[in-house]
Amino acid sequence: MESGIIRVLPDNVANKIAAGEVVQRPASVVKELVENAIDAGATQIKIIIKDAGKSLIQIIDNGKGMNALDARLCFERHATSKIIEAEDLFKLSTKGFRGEALASIAAVAQVELKTKQTENETAIQINIDGGKFINQTECQAPVGTSFTIKNLFFNIPARRNFLKSDQIELKHIIDEVERMAIPHINIHFIVQSNGNEILNLPATTTIGRIKSLVGSYIQKELVPLAEDAQYIKISGYVSLPQYCLKTKKEQFFFVNNRYVRNPFLNHAIYEAYKELISFQSHPRYFIFLELDPANIDINIHPTKTEVKFTDDKTAYLLLCSTIKRAIAKGAASDSLNFETETAFNTQTINASKNVTAPTININPSYNPFNNQHNFEQQNTKVNKQQWEKLFTGFTDNLPTEQQSEKQTVISNIENETKEFSVFQMNKKYIVTTYNQNILIVDQQRAHERIVYEHYLKTTIDNRINSQQILFAEQFDVSANDFVLIQQLMPEFKLMGFDLEVFGKNSFIINGIPSDLADFNIKQTIDFILESYKINTIDSKTDRHDNLSRAIAKSTSIKYGKVLQEIEMKQLLMSLFDCENPLYTANGKSIMMEIENTEIEKFFKK
Ligand code: ADP
Ligand code: MG
Repeated sequence: MESGIIRVLPDNVANKIAAGEVVQRPASVVKELVENAIDAGATQIKIIIKDAGKSLIQIIDNGKGMNALDARLCFERHATSKIIEAEDLFKLSTKGFRGEALASIAAVAQVELKTKQTENETAIQINIDGGKFINQTECQAPVGTSFTIKNLFFNIPARRNFLKSDQIELKHIIDEVERMAIPHINIHFIVQSNGNEILNLPATTTIGRIKSLVGSYIQKELVPLAEDAQYIKISGYVSLPQYCLKTKKEQFFFVNNRYVRNPFLNHAIYEAYKELISFQSHPRYFIFLELDPANIDINIHPTKTEVKFTDDKTAYLLLCSTIKRAIAKGAASDSLNFETETAFNTQTINASKNVTAPTININPSYNPFNNQHNFEQQNTKVNKQQWEKLFTGFTDNLPTEQQSEKQTVISNIENETKEFSVFQMNKKYIVTTYNQNILIVDQQRAHERIVYEHYLKTTIDNRINSQQILFAEQFDVSANDFVLIQQLMPEFKLMGFDLEVFGKNSFIINGIPSDLADFNIKQTIDFILESYKINTIDSKTDRHDNLSRAIAKSTSIKYGKVLQEIEMKQLLMSLFDCENPLYTANGKSIMMEIENTEIEKFFKK
């Protein structure tokens, strides 16, 4: 008989391939193992991590454990105790059901399982190494299950190299734990990383859990949801419009206690906030939907984060109206706060008048408008003295040929002080002439560059002055941000942020850079951390540089800000004082020049 070329893959190869889907990074292992512990009825789950899970992940639960046979079987592909027949797929109440996780994890790591059931005298220990069974013995262990995963991807170097820095991988792990801890409030979660306990979440209420993860300040920013319709039950919390953020943070959506993403229902949430928040700001939400498992399909994605509803229109409309009602009710009882507190960068429709947008405050020693009022008085007469101060120091630290070049620029500008005309276009660009050419400068990028260089230049000997805060403020953060701030502490110090650890997940702000005195400091730090994290995901810049970028992003003036003439001039002067006035730190163009010759050419026709 002719032999074909098709082979059935041996299990160990198939498992390695399947692992590519289920196990992308240490956080996926944590997710799968914690989900199994939840399914096993655990009331306490301890997660021990070393080197962001790259060298060790251990999950210890006090659930029902496995007997010897199951302990062996659980590593087989498609081995699950959770469904027996296809029908069961429509009444799932467990997290897992595909029976792939353990087989996949075992294929790409060194795994040790210890498990004991109440009714058995001894525990079972099994060791598996890269999918290969090593041994099975009896041992002593408490009731429950402990999985130890060592050296993830040791046998797939390409995958291992693909892992991000410890900081990023640890963040992914904490994200996963948060997603499981929020809906499972009856379970005590403990997370230890490199010997330090970074999370300890005893059983509590939903709001208690949210507070212990995000910080207790969040309670006053949220309103509860309650809707008990036939098709769907909605509960949880959403933020009042004035506490919406510039970044997508704290957006949690759970269906039958499983964290999911659903763009369609996400849209319903934004729809509820329509006209209450600007299009760039984002609500924070912790929403729980409960519905008959027969009405959902979670089987579309191997990591099970996507979900389909049989009737998503009903879900959409109900969700939207429930949120609207909750916000209206919350806003009414919170009307005092609503008037006075305007969230950072969140332009509620009628608040624009009272918003004090960031002013241009680079180097306070030469800044002619340290505060808005002062600035308005000076607006009509340009303060010559201030301009002169600006010009001195302009040429420091430059090679001589560039110095003379800059000198001519300066004297040109100096001579032109009276004619030096600027105007703002579309609340976005500053237009000016320069050497008879037209210069169009992007106001946000320009200011970002200036602030970036200002912070980038800080060193031990050249710190930014910190302005002490009279009444030090307490600042509660998530476990994730707590770890991050601690890592960034030395840079924060250099840059004028005087922060001090104050117990678990909390800091005291003693001082801030003096040029940020007018900012809402908690929101600014929050925003800085968010931009920092976004940046570290796509680039490998060092901490100092990245933090400077994040501060620049967070505190620079934005599009839409109307600039006064003197502000525009000041901005241009400071921009030309930069090492690189042409591009932002991310390489985006700051200005466009239309040459005089082009203009002449055009009018010759
Ligand atoms: P699934 O969760 O989809 O069933 P897994 O590969 O994650 O597949 O797990 C396989 C089986 O191993 C589970 O169905 C369960 O019976 C058993 N198991 C896994 N982890 C635990 C645990 N921590 N405690 C008790 N049983 C467990
Ligand atoms: Mg599972």
